[in-house]
Amino acid sequence: MTIAGPPPQSPPVAAHPRGLALHWQILIGLLCGAVAGLIAGQVWPAGAGDGRQRLLWFSANVAQPVGQIFLRLIFMVVIPLVFCALAVGVAGLGEIRKLGRVGGRTLLLTAVFSMISVIIAIGLVNLVKPGRGLSEQQQADLRTRFASEAGKAVEAAKQSKPLRDALLDIIPRNPLREMVGAIDNSSPGGGMLAVMFFALVFGAALLAAGPKGAPLVAVLDAGFEVCMKVIGFAMRLAPAGVAGLMFALTAELGLDILRVLAVFVLTAIAGLALHMFGTYGVALRWFAKRSPLEFFRGISDVMLTAFATASSNATLPTALRAAETRLRLRPQVSNFVLTVGATANQNGTALFEGVTVLFLAQVFGVPLSLEQQLVVAAMCVLAGIGTAGVPGGSIPYIAIVLQTVHVPAESVALILGVDRLLDMCRTTVNVSGDLAIAACVDQAER
Ligand code: ASP
Repeated sequence: MTIAGPPPQSPPVAAHPRGLALHWQILIGLLCGAVAGLIAGQVWPAGAGDGRQRLLWFSANVAQPVGQIFLRLIFMVVIPLVFCALAVGVAGLGEIRKLGRVGGRTLLLTAVFSMISVIIAIGLVNLVKPGRGLSEQQQADLRTRFASEAGKAVEAAKQSKPLRDALLDIIPRNPLREMVGAIDNSSPGGGMLAVMFFALVFGAALLAAGPKGAPLVAVLDAGFEVCMKVIGFAMRLAPAGVAGLMFALTAELGLDILRVLAVFVLTAIAGLALHMFGTYGVALRWFAKRSPLEFFRGISDVMLTAFATASSNATLPTALRAAETRLRLRPQVSNFVLTVGATANQNGTALFEGVTVLFLAQVFGVPLSLEQQLVVAAMCVLAGIGTAGVPGGSIPYIAIVLQTVHVPAESVALILGVDRLLDMCRTTVNVSGDLAIAACVDQAER
């Protein structure tokens, strides 16, 4: 996953080699599970005696474990994946440094755009509260379903650490112990944040080591590719997993959970649209001195390709061509900005991850303090840099951010059924953002 290198070859949510594409299979899994659960919930409603008991038994012992299998496969590689992605990402910044001013401007705009996108996400979720549609009883049921984790979460939220300790804990005394405990929240210090800090310092040291560190960069890069392959295997099981989980949820919570999910999708899309036309629109007008309307018209085929493929990497060739022929950017600027951006500038992804994590926290009734929301924001900005530009690239990161703020990581399964649609939308924002930055940097260089 070298930042300015060739696109990774292994999408985690790859199309199925034969037959129906995987995202359709997942959607079908979602629908089948939800409909079957709704019907079962109607036939054996609460208080229906033995029938209800049998339904609950089935949902706890058959439907849910199916969902757990593929999630566990993902969690299995989440720590090495994040470590490799961040370390290699920082080590790849050497390429940017070589490009001097163009690199610096690209980096600055990437950071600013990412932060704005996450601020939009946090603002919107706090305003709309998409996850608040469930009653306290339903939230309690959900917490029981996701077992100890969510229970611990509410407890942990009540007794959060003083800020000084929380900040110090980001620097791990013993990174290996942090890694061991990060997934089940039993690490002695900052957990996942500490692992990420270690990866960033490690990447910076690799960068400083220059050619001597190069073999290790190659090894970490290979490690990243291998982890993505494992996630690809896991995602093959997603249709059955999503069906099982949706069945268990709708059998007990009925239509409410679907309603909540629909509000979540609309909130995420509204945030993405706001960032795309608001933030990019203003940047284009002020910094790139261009008409946003003409810009978006010029890149319409790029947006369509991003929407259809849900992959920044797959859209890169179309984006490179449009930058030169439609937007008339100088290739020495646009080639660099777009190649780096395909992996490192993913505002849509950062925004989506922010919305998702806060949404799931609301669904589970886990209160997030302002500091925790800031942690989510920082992690989402980092995730925007580490996420591969392939379909579903952000799913492992969501699990990590959830874990950090004590929301059960498994709950990411709740949104998997609707992820493809949101992936198409966020990838369109990601790629448009790369082009918007390219236009701004090009103008600044003239
Ligand atoms: N599909 C996104 C992209 O390629 C990454 C993600 O958010 O999953 O840009």
